[in-house]
Order: sequence, then structure tokens, then C-alpha cells
Amino acid sequence: MKKHNFYAGPSILPQSAIDETINALKDFAGTGLSLASISHRSKEFDAVMNDAVALFKELLDIPEGYSVLFLGGGASTQFAMVPFNLMRKKALYVNTGTWSTKAVKEAKMFGDIIEIKGKDFFSIPKGYDIPDDVDYVHITTNNTIYGTEYHEDLNVKVPLVADMSSDIFSRKVDVSKYAIIYGGAQKNLAPSGVTFVVVKHDVLGKVKHKIPTMLNYQTHIDKNSMFNTPPVIPVFTALQTMKWVKANGGVEGMYKRNTEKAETLYAEIDRNKLFKGTVAEEDRSLMNVCFVMNEEYKELEAEFLEFATSKGMIGIKGHRSVGGFRASLYNALSIESVNALVDVMKEFESKH
Ligand SMILES: *Cc1c(COP(=O)(O)O)cnc(C)c1O
Repeated sequence: MKKHNFYAGPSILPQSAIDETINALKDFAGTGLSLASISHRSKEFDAVMNDAVALFKELLDIPEGYSVLFLGGGASTQFAMVPFNLMRKKALYVNTGTWSTKAVKEAKMFGDIIEIKGKDFFSIPKGYDIPDDVDYVHITTNNTIYGTEYHEDLNVKVPLVADMSSDIFSRKVDVSKYAIIYGGAQKNLAPSGVTFVVVKHDVLGKVKHKIPTMLNYQTHIDKNSMFNTPPVIPVFTALQTMKWVKANGGVEGMYKRNTEKAETLYAEIDRNKLFKGTVAEEDRSLMNVCFVMNEEYKELEAEFLEFATSKGMIGIKGHRSVGGFRASLYNALSIESVNALVDVMKEFESKH
């Protein structure tokens, strides 16, 4: 039976990226050696790093004056690295969920935080003031756990920092509006182990305090992400995923695919008598579709999960903090998988 991979992360990757990685683990770039056992200083891996940076810049249409870095530590390390490098006195954080909450916690160690938060995480706060004197504004463009997402770039007058862990390359982004874009790669780009950071050079060098070498963006800019040993295998896979994105219409192609998938699934959630969506309609994520059972059918939740799993729907259990269901529709997931899930929801409805 075909398995449909709806995991929230680590999550589905293009089959070509997996296959190319398997091949390279056996024989990397004709060296006769495994990707797992070559020097990161070899000319073959140097080419991988350079190609990955170049393709990242091409796909996101990154202007001059920015560097693309591939680091270790996960997005969670960026929660501290961003304030360490940018915070002089205060910053504004829009807290839209569990991950933003963690980012706020780290930032509070470095300065005063103005925290913008709605009454819950089922919608994205709007209509707040941003003082001119904050060092930066931090947002999380896609709330992986609750399923809300910014659908447009925010316009602010101060440097804008965005955690794009779970929606990178899913739509067009005007990078010139951002000072830093970062994310863990394990949602839309690569296996876990690598973190991407897009950083604008002119926002750096403004803090007075010292920054530990490994936590200083300038270190990694100067050494093309090779100050220390980078996560070689995930960087290689990220490059293969980006090649697949390019071959499938780039970020515009991804957006078209993702819109079709999300619209199909939300339409079924809205139509089906058993289910309902959990977040404000205008903020619904294209990446993580969260839904629950209607009150009168609540007791069928476990049964639906079991039924769907038996039909090959993998990873649709909602996050433990939210409950219900979450289907993650990352770039590599096909419309066929969404159609299969919709069929399962219809079949289950017809039984009740
Ligand atoms: C998964 C996720 C993280 C955490 O990433 P790690 O690489 O595990 O540290 C942070 N932010 C968002 C939005 C995420 O989805």
C-alpha cells in the first residue's frame, strides 16, 4: 500500500533528493568514496556548498548584500544567535505560537522585548504599532504547530527577522524586506542537521558586546559556512531538493502546487460534517493544515486516526499541545496524497 507522508518534520522530501543522496553515500561525485567519509575541504564538497548557496540565492531571488549560510544547531540556536548579533537595547517579537514563544524566551536574555500576542494562537495578531527605536522585529512566518501563516511580507521600517523553518521556498518572498531569514531545514528542504540563514551584511557589527566566534554570523560569512565542519550530508540533500524545486517551476511553481493542495483539503474540512478547521480563515496555513472533529463527533477521533493510518495516511495526528489532526503539505507532497486523504475523510463520513 502506498504511504502518504504528512509528517510535520522531519518530513517528506522529493524522491529525487533521497535517491541522489543514496547514490552519493555510495559514490560521491565519481570519487569512489562515500559522501559520509569525504573531507568537507575537498574540491568536490566545496562545489556542493557553492552550488547550494548559489541556487538558494537564485530561487529566492536574493539581492546583493546578503549571504546564505548553512550552519548546525537548528532553528533553536538562531533564537539566541539573532539577538546576540542584533540586539542593542530592545526588539519587538510577534508571538504567534510555540516556536515564537521559545524565540521570545531566548531574546529576553539580551534586551527588552515588546511582545505582541493575540488572545490565542489560532490567528495572527494584526494592527499593532511598531516603535521606530526597536533594533528589529521578529516574526515566525508559518506556525507549524497551530497552522497559521503570514501570506504576505510584513512592511516595517526597522530590520525584519523571520523564522521561515516551515514555509521556506513555498512562496515568493521579497527578501529585500528582511534583515535575516532563518530556519531548520527539516521541514521543506533537507534531513535534520542543517540550518539555513540568509543575512544582510549591513545589519551586523552594530552591537558593542563580544560575540562568541561560533555564534557570530560574520565568522560564517567570512568562511563561506566552513569555519568548522558543516553538516555535509544534509547540505548535499538540500542542494538536491533545491534542484527539484527549480525543475518544478521554482517558488512560484511551489506556490501554485501548495495553493491547490491546501484549497482541496480545507474545502473538504469545511464540507465534511465530521470535521472543522481550527484557525481563522484568512490565516490558514498552506503548509500545516490543522483540524478537529466537530463536537458531536468528538469521540470518533481515535477511530478516525486509526482508520486513516490503516489507509496509508502517515503522520496526521495533531501536535500533542493542540490535539486533533494536522496534515503537513510541504512542497514535496503531491496533490495525489491530498486527494487520497480527502477520499479517506469522505469514506469515514459515509460510515457515520
Ligand atoms: C521545527 C521548527 C523550529 C525548530 O527547529 P529546530 O531545527 O528543531 O531547532 C523552529 N521554528 C519553527 C517555525 C519550526 O517549525
